Amino acid sequence: MNLPVLQSDSRLPNAAASDDRQHLLDLSLEQLQGWLAEKKQPKFRAKQIFHWLYQKRARSFDEMSDLPKKLRHQLEESFVVFQASEAAVQSSRDGTDKLLVRLPDGGEVECVLLRDGHRRSICVSSQVGCAMGCVFCASGLDGVDRNLTRGEIVEQMLRLQARLDDGERLSHIVMMGMGEPLANLDRVLGALETARSADGLGISPRRITISTVGLPPAIDRLANSGVPYNLAVSLHAPNEELRSQLVPVNKKIGIDAVLEAADRYFDANGRRLTFEYVLLGGVNDDIDHARQLARRLRNRNVMLNVIPYNAVEGLPYETPSKQSISQFRETLESAGVNVMFRQRKGDEIDAACGQLRRNRGGKQ
Ligand code: SF4
Repeated sequence: MNLPVLQSDSRLPNAAASDDRQHLLDLSLEQLQGWLAEKKQPKFRAKQIFHWLYQKRARSFDEMSDLPKKLRHQLEESFVVFQASEAAVQSSRDGTDKLLVRLPDGGEVECVLLRDGHRRSICVSSQVGCAMGCVFCASGLDGVDRNLTRGEIVEQMLRLQARLDDGERLSHIVMMGMGEPLANLDRVLGALETARSADGLGISPRRITISTVGLPPAIDRLANSGVPYNLAVSLHAPNEELRSQLVPVNKKIGIDAVLEAADRYFDANGRRLTFEYVLLGGVNDDIDHARQLARRLRNRNVMLNVIPYNAVEGLPYETPSKQSISQFRETLESAGVNVMFRQRKGDEIDAACGQLRRNRGGKQ
């Protein structure tokens, strides 16, 4: 059952259709300091502005009451804080909020807030659409439109943060929304710099996960960045043939190259790797698939996240049966693989990535 889509539940201003001012959220602290220096303003003003934006959740320059009025006016003339608007909001009873964010050029992306105990996790998009073509995913059905900017990624975080109560704070970030984050690595890393900085959202990189289908050169760049983000590699199949069917980009890369790059990431960072496996009824949920998967993962320090598929209208894939889920789990556990079956949060809403955009008939 889908809950009704709310159209007027935005906690932050919805931007005007055309605005040629610069997006403030695109700027690093140093870049803002540079702009302030041009205006003959002291460096510490940049930290004040960041503090208002990321910790005090200001919606406008007007609220930044410890800035001189003239500076607030200059900021207002040069920058827009929020550049997008919320085209739709869905909330489910389990505490999941999903936003469909409309960008200034009409492109739409999704992002999600999940409330789980004390955790306040968000799942954020990195591209409009996706070029990876995973056959079961609504986001990739029409290919990729463009990369998001650093500011557009940060704005999703702030729009989700604005939905929290005053005493709550964001605790975890997952780059697992629409798009392949490693295909837009520079901007994703820029946005995550704001997310983890003490002047930004102050979220430890150990609580930030970057999800990828596995692009080895970009995994190596990420390893060399020296920041210990968690890496989640979407495997979805235990052998070359099936993976190339389900994740077409695999034809050019190969499952062994993906696993070797993941091993190098582990060697560089010492962070336990996560592998994701969307369990599709009758496709990759056989006991034999579980055995092959166990052979691949057995000697690796990994956590395997199995995600029973949410059926998407218009796609020919089915949710696996309870029996196949439990057989799959038993086979992996008895082979000694650390495995977790992820609870499907947001079942009442269009929870699968790309589903809300598609069902709302957004720009495809
Ligand atoms: S599952 Fe992720 S990588 Fe695959 S098409 Fe969808 S958004 Fe892209």
